[in-house]
Amino acid sequence: MIGNQGKIVLNHLQRAIAAEEKQGCCNTGVIGGFHLFLKGILSRLEQLEKDGDFNVLKDITNHYKDWSPLQRRQALAHLRRFIEEHEELEAQGQAPPVYDSLKPVNLEYGGPGISKQPQQPKPSDIPPASEPPGSDKKERLTRPTPPRSLQFLKGVGPERAKLLAQIGLHTVKDLFFYFPRRYEDRSLRRIGELKDGEFASVAGKVVAGQIARGKMKVVKLSIEQDGRLVYGVWFNQTYILKQFPVGTPVIVTGKVRWQQRVPEIQATDIQKAGAAQPAGIVPVYSETARLSSKVIRSIVQGVLDQAPELFPEFLPPEEGKRWVLRAQAYQEIHFPRSLHSLGQARERLVFEEVLFLQLAVARLRAGVQRENSPQLKGGESLVQKFFANLPFELTHAQKRVIEEIFRDMANTQGMARLVQGDVGSGKTAVAMAALLMAVGSGYQGAMMAPTEILALQHYQSLEAAFNPLGLHVVCLLGSQTKSERDKILAEIAYGKAHVIVGTHALIQESVQFHSLGLAITDEQHRFGVKQRTSLQTKGENPHVLVLTATPIPRTLALTLYGDLQLSALDEMPQGRKPIMTRKLTERGRSSLEKFMEEQMEKGRQIYVVCPLVEESENVDLISATERFESLQERFPNRRISLLHGRMKGVQKEEIMAAFQKGEVDILVSTTVVEVGVNVPNATVMVIEGAERFGLAQLHQLRGRVGRGGEQSYCFLLSDAKSSRRLDVLCETQDGFKIAEEDLKIRGAGELLGTRQHGIMELRLADLSRDGRLVEQAYQLAQKVLAHPDSYPRVWQECDQFFSLEDIGLH
Ligand code: ADP
Ligand code: MG
Repeated sequence: MIGNQGKIVLNHLQRAIAAEEKQGCCNTGVIGGFHLFLKGILSRLEQLEKDGDFNVLKDITNHYKDWSPLQRRQALAHLRRFIEEHEELEAQGQAPPVYDSLKPVNLEYGGPGISKQPQQPKPSDIPPASEPPGSDKKERLTRPTPPRSLQFLKGVGPERAKLLAQIGLHTVKDLFFYFPRRYEDRSLRRIGELKDGEFASVAGKVVAGQIARGKMKVVKLSIEQDGRLVYGVWFNQTYILKQFPVGTPVIVTGKVRWQQRVPEIQATDIQKAGAAQPAGIVPVYSETARLSSKVIRSIVQGVLDQAPELFPEFLPPEEGKRWVLRAQAYQEIHFPRSLHSLGQARERLVFEEVLFLQLAVARLRAGVQRENSPQLKGGESLVQKFFANLPFELTHAQKRVIEEIFRDMANTQGMARLVQGDVGSGKTAVAMAALLMAVGSGYQGAMMAPTEILALQHYQSLEAAFNPLGLHVVCLLGSQTKSERDKILAEIAYGKAHVIVGTHALIQESVQFHSLGLAITDEQHRFGVKQRTSLQTKGENPHVLVLTATPIPRTLALTLYGDLQLSALDEMPQGRKPIMTRKLTERGRSSLEKFMEEQMEKGRQIYVVCPLVEESENVDLISATERFESLQERFPNRRISLLHGRMKGVQKEEIMAAFQKGEVDILVSTTVVEVGVNVPNATVMVIEGAERFGLAQLHQLRGRVGRGGEQSYCFLLSDAKSSRRLDVLCETQDGFKIAEEDLKIRGAGELLGTRQHGIMELRLADLSRDGRLVEQAYQLAQKVLAHPDSYPRVWQECDQFFSLEDIGLH
C-alpha cells in the first residue's frame, strides 16, 4: 500500500509515459532523460513502500537508455501495467479521502527564507492508506486539517466525486484551478443588435414551434421580442417543443446565424425567463461524458466563498496594490463581473503562476552558495596563445561574451551564466577560452556534453588546441572500461588532468576533482536543471557556464533560467551562406538522389537523418537501417555508414572520426547527430519523415550543415500535405524566430519536451503572449530572492503551488 503520495507519484509517471510516447520514445519525454526520471520515481516508491516489488520498474530504469524506440515502447506498456496493478492493489484497500495537506511538499530544498522545520507532514507522518470503510466522518472530526473532499460539498456526493476525481479534481483547491475553457456573455441582448457569428442571449416569448424532418430532426422555436422575431434552433431535441410551449417567456443562448431575414440562434441553452439563471459572463468548463459544464459550474459556484481562506494574499501591500487581490482573482476568473475584471483577474493569476515557477527553479540552486568561488584571472597568457593559433578571427559577439565571462570568473561571487547562441555561432571557442582562463589560474575546468558523440568531438578539438599549450585533456564516458575509467578518475583526482570532458558520467559520485574551478554544460537544454546543478556541487563552488543552442525566447529564459545571467552570441561567423531549405515529397526522391550524387562528385559529404532505428509494424517510419541499405544499393560506389544511439561508444567514435576525416560520403543516422556535431565539409542534410520532428529539433539538425564556406542544403522529406512547422523552417534560419514560432504553434511545454509532465505545467500563462507579465514576475522574483525575509508568505504559497514533483526534477 503506497498511499496518497504514491498515487501522486504514479500519476506523474503516467503523464511522463504519455509525453515520452508522444515524442517517439526518444528518452526525451522528460527534461534530462526519461530514464533519469524513472530513477527518481523508483527511489520515491521505494521510500514509500519499503518492501514493495519494483523489479519491473527497476529493470526498465536500468536499461531504458540503451533500448531502441521499439523496445522502449514495449517497456512503456509494461510500465502502464505496473501502474494499473498498483492502483488495483490500492483499490482493494479502501482508498482514503484526499487531504489538501497531503500534497507532496519538498522539504530538502528549503529555499531562502523558508524555515527548515517541516511544516507539512513527511511521507512517514501520513496516515496509513487503508482506513476502515465508513470511518471518514469520524476521522474528519478528529483530524487537525479538515478534509476538503469534494464528496461532502453540496450537490456532489460520492458518485460525482468519483467523476470529478477522474478529471483530477480531488480538493476544493483543485476546483479553483480548473479554469474555464471559455466564457459566454449572457447579458440579455436586443434582437436588432445581434451580429452573425457571435454568441448571445436573448429574452422573448415563444410564439410558434415546429419540427423540420430531414436527416436530423431540426427543432425551431419562433421567439418574439418587442415585435421582432428570432429562431431558436436545436437538433434532435424534440422535447424542447413540449417543454417550452407557445406562450412561454424564455431566455435562449447560443451562436447567432444571421444570413436570412430572421436571425437564428443555434441554442446551447434555454431557460424559462424568471428562473434563476446565471446572467452576465458565464464560465464554460471542459466537460466529460457524464459531467457537464453546467454541473461543474454550479459546483464551482458553491465553493467561491472559500477563496479568501484558500488563497490568502502573499504580496506585501506596496506590491499588492498593482494587482487585484488574490482571492478575488480566483473568484473572478470563474465568475467575472465584466470582461475588464476578467482580464485583471487573469493577469494577476498569470503573474503569480510565473512568479512561483521562477522561484521554484531559482530555489533549486539555493543549496549552492554563491560566495567564495575562486578568483580565476591568471589565464591571460594561455588565452592569448590560443587566440593567436585560431584559424579565424573571433566575431565581435564572441569577444564580447568572452569578456563577460572573464569578468564573472574574476569574481568570488561565482559565475552563473547562460550563453545562448544559435547553431554554428561558435560557442565552443568561447568555452575553450573560459577553460583556459580556469586552467591558467591553477584550477581544473570541466565540460559536460549530452551525448557521447558530442563529448568525443569536444575532446578531440580540445586536445588538438590545448596539447600544444602543454595542457592535459581527458575524456570520461559511460561506456569506458573499468581500467580506462580508473586511470582517468585518478588523473582527475590528483590534478594531472587539467581539462575534463565527458557525458553524464562526470556527475557520478565516483568522480572526485582535484580543484574544479569551472563547470561548463554544453547544450544545456538536453539536461535537467538538477543535472546542471550537480556538476557545480562537485568542486568548491566552481564558476558555472551553460551553453545552449536552443534559442530560448526571453520570456522562457527568464522563467526557466531566471537564476542565470544571459549572454547572447548573436552574430554568425563571417562568410556563412544561408542554407537552402526545401520541402520534398516521396516523388522528389529521385531528383534529390541525383543532386546528392552531384554534391558527392564535388567532394562534399551528406547526412541522412531518420526518425527510428528499427522498422516497427505499427509505426510507419523509414528506419535508418532500411534507408542505409537502400542508399547502398542506389550509390554502390560511395562510402556509406550507419550511426545510431545503440552502438557502442568506440564504434560511434570510429564512424564519426571517419566522417570527420572525409572517409565517409553519406552518414545515415538517427538523431544522435542532432546536437553539436561539427563537420564543415558536410553540405547536405536530408531529413526523412521530417514532420515527425519538432521545429527546434529540425533547426538543430539543419545546423549540422552550413558550417563551412560552401553553399549548403537541407531537404525535408515529408508527405504531410501542409505543415506550418516545415514552412517556418523553409522561410527562416533565425533560431530565435523559429523558437518564437515553435512557442506559438506548440506552447512552451512541448518546446521543452515536457508538456505532459514537468516544469511547464503552466495552467494559465502563455509565455508567447504574456511577455510583460513574465517580466514583472521576474522583477519581483529577483526582489524576493534578494530579500527573502521581507517576503515570507511568498515562499509559503510557492511551496503549495509547485512541489518538487510538479517541476519534474528528481
Ligand atoms: P556551436 O555554436 O553550434 O557550438 P561551434 O562552436 O561548433 O558552433 O562552431 C561551428 C564552426 O564554426 C566550427 O567549425 C568553428 O571552428 C567555426 N567557428 C567558430 N568561430 C568562428 C569564427 N569567429 N569565424 C569562423 N569560424 C568560426
Ligand atoms: Mg556546440
